[in-house]
Amino acid sequence: MKIFSNPGEMKHELSHCKDREIGFVPTMGALHKGHISLIKKSIAENDITVVSIFVNATQFNDPEDFKKYPNNLDNDINILEPLNVNYLFAPEHNLLYNDNYLYRIIETTFSKELCGAQREGHFEGVLTVVMKLLNIVNPRRAYFGEKDFQQYKLIKGMVEAFHMNVEIIPSPTIRENDGLALSSRNLLLSGEDRKKAAKFPELLMSGQSDKEVNSQLEEEGFKVNYIKTLNGRRFGAVTLGKVRLIDNVKK
Ligand code: AMP
Repeated sequence: MKIFSNPGEMKHELSHCKDREIGFVPTMGALHKGHISLIKKSIAENDITVVSIFVNATQFNDPEDFKKYPNNLDNDINILEPLNVNYLFAPEHNLLYNDNYLYRIIETTFSKELCGAQREGHFEGVLTVVMKLLNIVNPRRAYFGEKDFQQYKLIKGMVEAFHMNVEIIPSPTIRENDGLALSSRNLLLSGEDRKKAAKFPELLMSGQSDKEVNSQLEEEGFKVNYIKTLNGRRFGAVTLGKVRLIDNVKK
């Protein structure tokens, strides 16, 4: 696996692979089985797989949340090597944001709902970094988890809106045995909260109304950000301790 941190060098290297199909999996690291499922899909469907690891400061509305986001590049490299990933792109912030974030991608409607209503500027940061990464890697296909369904939809919409030459491919949510969706943030839960966290997907999947789910979660000690059914999917975001968890299930 070759590792690049300079966007110009990464772009130059991949420009030599024009006759081969590139699959791309953007991540923020602290890799787990959810990320690995996307990476395996990319390896199966493409000639070359590029994984990026970049904890993107511009999508964190809370600086404390950014500071405590898990970060262990050496461990991630050890996970990626045996999977036969071809390239790891782990860019430096200042080189990726060479414009100092003066230029941004903004979606005006769906990005203001659900997580966007709670986290100001979040999707602006997400869409901007994904646009930068896609322009550097220039993949044929890019893979996104349904765990972050709103993010997947917004990225797919961006690619269509800007007539970009990449296919955005969704991949199903990978869960722990007790139903909790795998997330890098799960590492931050206390032992007791980790046990309690399984109630969140359980109630999302239940036949109860959004309102009932909301009040049951509150009774269990969750702080509920939102529980909302939209277009045949129930979306939820909760905080347990200081850890924010999101999930969604098909209804
Ligand atoms: P992150 O590192 O959290 O930004 O996630 C990187 C990619 O992995 C995103 O497309 C996520 O939706 C996806 N992902 C994260 N957790 C899971 C999961 N449990 N199952 C499937 N995909 C996931």
